[in-house]
Amino acid sequence: RAKADGRGLARGFEAGMDLALRERWAMQQDLSTAISRNEMFLHWMPQANTETGEIVGFEALLRWKHPERGVVPPAQFIPAAEQNASIVPIGEWVLRAACREAARWPKACKVAVNLSPVQFQHGDIVALVHEILLETGLSPARLEIEITEGVLLDDHAAALNTLRRFKTLGVQIALDDFGTGYSSLSYLQSFPFDRLKIDASFIKALATSPQAQAIVRSVLALGESLRLPITAEGVETQEQRAFLAELRCDEIQGYLVGRPSPVVSFQSLFEKPQRLLA
Ligand code: C2E
Ligand code: MG
Ligand code: MG
Ligand code: MG
Repeated sequence: RAKADGRGLARGFEAGMDLALRERWAMQQDLSTAISRNEMFLHWMPQANTETGEIVGFEALLRWKHPERGVVPPAQFIPAAEQNASIVPIGEWVLRAACREAARWPKACKVAVNLSPVQFQHGDIVALVHEILLETGLSPARLEIEITEGVLLDDHAAALNTLRRFKTLGVQIALDDFGTGYSSLSYLQSFPFDRLKIDASFIKALATSPQAQAIVRSVLALGESLRLPITAEGVETQEQRAFLAELRCDEIQGYLVGRPSPVVSFQSLFEKPQRLLA
């Protein structure tokens, strides 16, 4: 019966679902119109040279201002958006908005954009990035795409081909959340990364966990021997920064450098944060 009418089907389906599923379904409905309703926006999080404190780039972090729920954090909606592939148009919006904005900054620093594995499975992500670079005039070398190992998991050959095409375009590739998940070391051998981002969980634990210290030390040593620059994520304290500087971790990101902000001010581009001058 319900088959004859898509909305009837949706309603019947909805009624039979438990609360969590119904929530997710409602969120997915809202996600599919979020772009056209102008509900998405970006926050910018600064990245600094560990040693000098100079601001070297900003990571674009997606925010969703839902009309009833208020600002929904990405951890709450990205999985839902990945499940129904609405991350594909949303991710395209992020890329375009981030590149457009960065092209206008009065300093040619890096702009980091997170890509979902789902964006690699739908359409030609490299062609899309190329088109957006041409359209916005952003120099490819300034764009750093952040991928997680989810991109590398199922089809190694396809992932390698895509990443090589990104390299041909001239964009940078960072492996995000390094150390979590499977983190196979063979990834570092096989894929053309320009940077690793050590996951914040290891940095958080530095003060209390000798294991975390050993892991961070080892990853930094590995980066040094592979000539792979490393960013530490989630740096909140001077102690963490000092530990990382000592081990020649080249870049840091976290509340110590600056919190995500809706604007990239002239000051935030050119002035070293007070806290990093010490
Ligand atoms: P991520 O790419 O690892 O981004 C870093 C997250 O850690 C951000 O959370 C940031 O606000 C938070 N963070 C960084 N430094 C600190 C710190 O010192 N202390 C604390 N407490 N938190 C810190 P956010 O913005 O909630 O983003 C969460 C995740 O959502 C991101 O993790 C990324 O995986 C995903 N995400 C964000 N924007 C996008 C996007 O445009 N596309 C896709 N596919 N994923 C996105
Ligand atoms: Mg990231
Ligand atoms: Mg991360
Ligand atoms: Mg993360």
